[in-house]
Amino acid sequence: MYYPEPIAKLIDAFSRLPGVGPKTAGRLAFHVLRMKEEDVLDFAKALVSVKRNLHYCSVCCNITDVDPCRICSDRSRDASVICVVQEPKDLVALERTKEFHGYYHVLHGAISPMEGIGPDDIRMAELLRRLGDDQVQELILATNPNLEGEATAMYLSRLVKSFGLKVTRIAHGLPVGGDLEYADEVTLSKSLEGRRELL
Ligand SMILES: [Zn+2]
Repeated sequence: MYYPEPIAKLIDAFSRLPGVGPKTAGRLAFHVLRMKEEDVLDFAKALVSVKRNLHYCSVCCNITDVDPCRICSDRSRDASVICVVQEPKDLVALERTKEFHGYYHVLHGAISPMEGIGPDDIRMAELLRRLGDDQVQELILATNPNLEGEATAMYLSRLVKSFGLKVTRIAHGLPVGGDLEYADEVTLSKSLEGRRELL
């Protein structure tokens, strides 16, 4: 390496991030070098805090700094509907639409036989535990409209049949093969409105 060790280490750390190549990593590292020390400290603290102060909500499995999370503690929401998403960022995308007022469940992944990810590898058992509650009447499956997301939705819809719930799947307007988090608010609202019941 041509760089002093501290900067080489930082470049290496940045280049481990998704979507960051060696060139960008170098640019970021030199940017940090030029930053004010207090800003660098704030940045470092934010990195550590995200690991130390966040955990999974004991109800919906979303990431949270309080337990239960702010959404699960909000009694003004509609307890008859649970919307199932793959990732915390999908929940945020749906919240932004301001169209959904029920509760959520975050699976932290999707079933993928190709990658060896089965139902036990995602937060599915936690969801089933919640369905025993009489208040829940509808389950909205808002997993991604791609292969893994569809497989997860199908699996879940079969699994929860015995609970006698209405199971719906968002579909309308979402691009097939896409990611929920990249959909705009209007498209997402439409897909919620146009959800259909899974047989
Ligand atoms: Zn929660």
